[in-house]
Amino acid sequence: MIRRLAYLVAISLILFSGCSLKRNSNLLYNFKASLDSLKILHVSAILELKCNKDSSCMKLNLKNYANNIKIFDKNNVSINYIHTSDTLIVLLKSIKGITQLKIDYELPVDSFKVDSVFYLARSAKWIPFVYDNIYDLSMDITLPKKYAAYSSCFIDSVSDNNKTTYKFHNVNNTSFPLIIAPSNFYTQTSKTISGYKFDYFFYSKDSVCNRMIIDESIRAFFYCNSKIGKEEIKQKTFIECPEIQYVQSHRGFITIGTDFIKNYRLPEYKFWPSHEMIHQWIGSGIEIPLKNGDNDFTCESFTEFIRFLYMKDMFGSDSLDYQLRYNLALYDQFVKGTKSDVAINKYVNNGDAVDLFYNNAPIFLYYLFVNSDEKKIRNMIKSIYSSYYNKYFTLSDFHKILSENVKDKKLMSKFDYFLDNKGISKDVRDLIPQKKK
Ligand SMILES: [Zn+2]
Repeated sequence: MIRRLAYLVAISLILFSGCSLKRNSNLLYNFKASLDSLKILHVSAILELKCNKDSSCMKLNLKNYANNIKIFDKNNVSINYIHTSDTLIVLLKSIKGITQLKIDYELPVDSFKVDSVFYLARSAKWIPFVYDNIYDLSMDITLPKKYAAYSSCFIDSVSDNNKTTYKFHNVNNTSFPLIIAPSNFYTQTSKTISGYKFDYFFYSKDSVCNRMIIDESIRAFFYCNSKIGKEEIKQKTFIECPEIQYVQSHRGFITIGTDFIKNYRLPEYKFWPSHEMIHQWIGSGIEIPLKNGDNDFTCESFTEFIRFLYMKDMFGSDSLDYQLRYNLALYDQFVKGTKSDVAINKYVNNGDAVDLFYNNAPIFLYYLFVNSDEKKIRNMIKSIYSSYYNKYFTLSDFHKILSENVKDKKLMSKFDYFLDNKGISKDVRDLIPQKKK
């Protein structure tokens, strides 16, 4: 159980990727939706999509809750389509390069109801999308006044008679989170510190626990701001979501499953806010194309390694030692000898082997850190952030930068050996202090 939950902390950032490693800036979404009194969301989405190959159809993900679909081209000419269970196949004469589509449809939001909240996430396929990152998403959500909308990168809200329109705009949106909740559902706590605004929306009533999460996430924020790079996004939202079993970091927007709040006093839960906060830099600030499985390394292992430094710097070595022992125990008990136990370079993203990116890979990075010039590695983190901000960052990028900063060739070949072989070698294990009797 504990491990399952720890694992869920670990898989907390799920990003999706582009076809090529080059960041694609041509995918634009302009998304307007209005909720009526029957809880039908009327959507009008303008999509600008890029197709690399010449093709006569474009496959989009859109679940079959969507009704009354109408599709038009940029000249307002109606386009035919086939809608199967979760795929919308748009039939065009020919597509190559940029294609603009207008897709109108209706969604009964009751399909997404958990508790009193409508929670729409990418996995629900409520927005038509291709398997790629979306750059530049504008979203206007108009709701009856008794509801409020929450999403990534809030801009403004405008009220008119009995309706309020919430505006969001975002330049790296991979997850389309949208939460619609009764206006009085959440208790909001806001803090403004050094020009940054933090908004927390909890419905858990354990105010002491909520306060601990607020303090821990803000501590992690300012650590990242000084040790990774200055954050440009001035507002962060933390929001609790009923019944979801994970924590997830979107740009400026962190969604939290209730169990992560309920169990926060347990030691293995203490550092999920810092993990998610680091993802605001690694995963949101610099982007990770996860379609190639090995890039889980730059997303999750690198994030966990930075979290190790955070624990050491802010709480002391004993706190980090606990974490190192915990990771090692997770590996030995649950990964070693299973089908998840593979080398990073032999990893195939089929959902089985994700554990290794959270257990031994960050331990190995920490081993590199203590055997190198620590100051150089800390500066390397800053330079990765400044060089790759709003760009894709892959394992081969990481390797290149690391080899420039780790001059010891033996250590670099150890890293290569680690990438090609499964497990944790004895000298790396010896780094981890035994628990004092
Ligand atoms: Zn993560």
